[in-house]
Amino acid sequence: MQRLITAGQVLVGPAGERIPDGAVLVDDDTITAVGPRAEVEAQAGAEAVRHSAATVLPGLINGHVHLVWDAGFGMLDRYQEAGDEQLLLGIAGRAQQALRAGVTTLRDLGDRGGLVLRVRDSIDRGEITGPRLLGSGPPLTPPKGHCWFFGGEVDGPEAIRDRIRRNAELGADVIKVMASGGQMTRESAPTWQNQFDGDELALVVKTAAEFDLPVAAHAHGTDAIVAAVEAGVDTLEHCSWQAAGGEGADLRDDVAREIARRGITVCHAYPPDWAGFARITGEAGARAAVERVRWMDEFGVRFVPGTDGGLPTSVFDNYAGALNYYVEAVGWSAERVLDMATTGAAQALGLTGVGRLAPGCAADVLALDGDPLADFAALHRQRLVLARGRAVAPDAQLLSE
Ligand SMILES: [Zn+2]
Repeated sequence: MQRLITAGQVLVGPAGERIPDGAVLVDDDTITAVGPRAEVEAQAGAEAVRHSAATVLPGLINGHVHLVWDAGFGMLDRYQEAGDEQLLLGIAGRAQQALRAGVTTLRDLGDRGGLVLRVRDSIDRGEITGPRLLGSGPPLTPPKGHCWFFGGEVDGPEAIRDRIRRNAELGADVIKVMASGGQMTRESAPTWQNQFDGDELALVVKTAAEFDLPVAAHAHGTDAIVAAVEAGVDTLEHCSWQAAGGEGADLRDDVAREIARRGITVCHAYPPDWAGFARITGEAGARAAVERVRWMDEFGVRFVPGTDGGLPTSVFDNYAGALNYYVEAVGWSAERVLDMATTGAAQALGLTGVGRLAPGCAADVLALDGDPLADFAALHRQRLVLARGRAVAPDAQLLSE
């Protein structure tokens, strides 16, 4: 089935490439033509379904979520009480929520037993509509370490190898390792502390490579960041540069330079309601977080946006809000941020034929009623979302009817 989407402007990705009065032609799950309206219209069959919008751009990519969690307070208790069937339904529902808000790819960095991967397969087979999902399955963590309740506890080299092999068998797209502690459970190491030594992290990267899988490392403390960078991970999650002992930050220029040199991507993982989050963490903490991003940027570090979706208030249907952090708080241009959430994110996550509007690319398309380059809030005014060619009615449309 063909769809012709005409628009006042087509943002094809990467940043800077824009076709005024353009169109995108889609055939089933693939984009077949992109260009000036008249040219593309001439290629469309008479039976093509026609749409029009102010702006068309590639579907958005969220680099860090947890679909097993429901984003409400008390989500951890509900997760622990829930059976697999209940979690599967929740995962599918939240993935669809994200999709209706324009997110056509989500990378999930921690679930129980690879449940997200089962939903991914169901979406890929066309049984249910949903975004493209990438998943890690249970993250590697020491006994009772950060997020141990996902089932990925490992103790020693043999257990590390075994867990990675099992995650690969579950069909994981990425191996997640909790390089530092976290705040989810009282018994786990504090956020600034390492959970694995350099040899163990190197073993994680080496074993993952045997299965052709990239590694995402959760790292809050500078010690954990250093160890993960030396081990050669692919993405650093959070990357908040906490000093040993937990007091203040320990920003290391040499390490930031090395992150950029190695092409490691940083996922800051900040929630959609970042303004509300700042009220909780305090003005100074919020300002320091912004300064860290700007400081890494000076060294040319590459970023991928993510939300840690599923944590309290980190909802799945307001990705535009999360992206607005980079525009409003960090001060980057809308063009740069949209590029980071589409073309850049696809590159960082190793996805080819995704994150761009070009013939042969996946038909992941977001059509808007306004111009997000001039008014970033236009990202909320979705008119049509296509996920590999499947049309989804956006929430924005339901609200306006
Ligand atoms: Zn996370």
